[in-house]
Amino acid sequence: MRQIRIEAHGGSEALQFVEVQEPSAGPGQVKVRVRAVGLNHLDLWVRRGVPGHRFPLPLVPGSDCAGEIAEGPRAGERVCIAPAFGCGQCAACQRGQENLCRHYEIRGEGGDGGLSEIVVVPERDLLPIPEHLDFEQAAALPLSGVTAWQMLRKAQLQPGETVLILGGTSGVGSLAIQIAAAKGARVLATAGTPEKRQRCLELGAEQAFPHREDAPFHRQVKAATGGAGADVVMEHIGAATWERSLKALAWGGRLVTCGATTGAEVQINLRALFFKQQALIGSTMGTRADLLAYWSQVSAGRVRPVVAGSWSWGDLAGAHQALEAGVVGKVVVRVD
Ligand SMILES: [Zn+2]
Repeated sequence: MRQIRIEAHGGSEALQFVEVQEPSAGPGQVKVRVRAVGLNHLDLWVRRGVPGHRFPLPLVPGSDCAGEIAEGPRAGERVCIAPAFGCGQCAACQRGQENLCRHYEIRGEGGDGGLSEIVVVPERDLLPIPEHLDFEQAAALPLSGVTAWQMLRKAQLQPGETVLILGGTSGVGSLAIQIAAAKGARVLATAGTPEKRQRCLELGAEQAFPHREDAPFHRQVKAATGGAGADVVMEHIGAATWERSLKALAWGGRLVTCGATTGAEVQINLRALFFKQQALIGSTMGTRADLLAYWSQVSAGRVRPVVAGSWSWGDLAGAHQALEAGVVGKVVVRVD
């Protein structure tokens, strides 16, 4: 069978087809014929490499995987695969907080991922694909959705509260808008272009503001909330927007962050933080319970995938270019 393998970091030439022997399923495992893989920004880091971080090369990339069970009593069932897993043994895993496990592994980052004709995974990692979604739509959902879900859970977003979602058309942002709106929160968003801001409104945001350079979205959030600010701010842009994001936060507000695309070093005024009784919360991926709770919303049709388009895995380089160009919605790769 064929799979994509990264032997050494680099440009699109790093993404190479290799021929390998088909794996077989052991006890508790299932063989899945992969149909579609959703790309995340993580795929760019894995391909290019990250200074000071060592990926376990050679590596099969791809974290978000949809396909059908290839053999056994459940053959033909359409499934997504949980994008990450813990060791299953340690205290964090026993508590159900596998994303705090020291051996937590995201598929396609800490070990082989889904850009392969066949993958073998534990049966417990399967998520049924609801009937209204095709493989490409389903592959757009798991990783960024569970990330958005845990962020809003940890920030304790309540119905009627206002949430500001930075980068509302990003993978995490586009799903967070829908999750927050379904919770009954009032959603404000930011996005870099008029087209993207329009998209935020279509997804369920009440208003969307520019955030590039020094666009004063914090003042627009204050104006939209009668001067109060947002109860929850969802950050993942990092240094470029941090100061304005904090200024947009209400007294008693919670800022939750899962990324630092534009830089990780930021300033905090401690007096403002304690006097306004604000909380800063870090978040990475989600627990198994978060994934299942989120997936029930997907199954109910309350969260819809936002797909930019699909590329054959023969044109994986083209898919990476689209991802790098910042297209609106998920870049999905067809394993065909
Ligand atoms: Zn563990």
